[in-house]
Amino acid sequence: MTPIPATLIRGDGIGPEIMDAVLAALDALGAPFAFEERPAGLNAMERHGGDPLPEETLASIRRTRLALKGPLTTPVGSGFRSVNVRLREAFGLYANLRPCRTIVPGRFSDVDLVVVRENLGGLYVGQEHWIPVAGDPHAVGVATGFNTREACRRIVTYAFDYAVTHGRKTVTVVHKANILKVLSGLFLEEARAVAKDYAGRVAFDERIIDACAMQLVLDPARFDVLVTTNLFGDILSDLVAGLVGGLGFAPGANIGPDAAVFEAVHGSAPDIAGQGKANPVALLLAAGLMLDHAGRPDAARRLRDAITATLAAGTGTPDIGGTATTAEFGAAVAAAIRRAP
Ligand code: NAD
Repeated sequence: MTPIPATLIRGDGIGPEIMDAVLAALDALGAPFAFEERPAGLNAMERHGGDPLPEETLASIRRTRLALKGPLTTPVGSGFRSVNVRLREAFGLYANLRPCRTIVPGRFSDVDLVVVRENLGGLYVGQEHWIPVAGDPHAVGVATGFNTREACRRIVTYAFDYAVTHGRKTVTVVHKANILKVLSGLFLEEARAVAKDYAGRVAFDERIIDACAMQLVLDPARFDVLVTTNLFGDILSDLVAGLVGGLGFAPGANIGPDAAVFEAVHGSAPDIAGQGKANPVALLLAAGLMLDHAGRPDAARRLRDAITATLAAGTGTPDIGGTATTAEFGAAVAAAIRRAP
């Protein structure tokens, strides 16, 4: 098999532990990736003159156009821009794909949906300022959001194309155009226009974000592909992760014309870092998305089957009531891959 160059970022907190578990599974699969390991995050800052996203890491992704990334810590406080946001901007990673599927039946047994989040604009751009009033320099906080017509059209088209290529039946646009008539209204207007091009192939539906959140909690099986703007997508994708057992089960893909970066939705979990308690399933599923993206759907299916078999056999990390360590879980998935016909 021809090796596929890819950049590997272990990340902060639980990142190195869960990445080791993923590498054990990819090794068992004989996955075709030729990884170049590069630094990013808090650990990189300490070794690279204060820069959490060193040029050598950007250069590697520019070359490989493919990365598997552990979570990165963004220090709270002024002066730090999220490395994740910088990566999205640097490579124009405009589509954030977050599939959400029941693996271990819990509150729901039949969730199988995908959140497609616009990744570069909206209220998430973090353009903020203060307005001073009567001697208080921080009397009023202001945030500005941007949605361009082109970006709205591009992300909705991505969602419809994804539905077509993955045999999905319905795309639901999630918005707040009743209140944010400009910012969200433009998104809805473009979604309606794009939907016409797919009429007869993919059904189109609209939901206001607040009603959608309630309906997702009551009856998630009614949803298929959801497409929404950046901040709503950020919130909804954690909500849907909760429907299938929590952040430990939520993978994400950041896709752009020049590169794709695969990661878990969760963060660096500093509260459990270094203790072998982290659930590696989300990053394992992200590696599965990366195999799909790299044109290896058979390997992706084998990986997902092994994760399902391992969980079905009762092996799990403490967040899901199990006793396995992160490394033991990774080894169990690797063993399931080797056992499978
Ligand atoms: P978090 O997702 O790291 O943790 C939230 C809670 O979920 C914690 O109790 C944690 O222990 C638990 N958790 C998360 N992942 C888990 C896993 N795989 N297994 C078991 N339990 C898990 O969110 P946070 O605490 O708000 O953020 C910590 C840091 O991560 C922050 O610096 C934040 O900026 C960063 N972050 C990074 C990314 C990313 O790199 N994509 C995403 C979100 C947050």
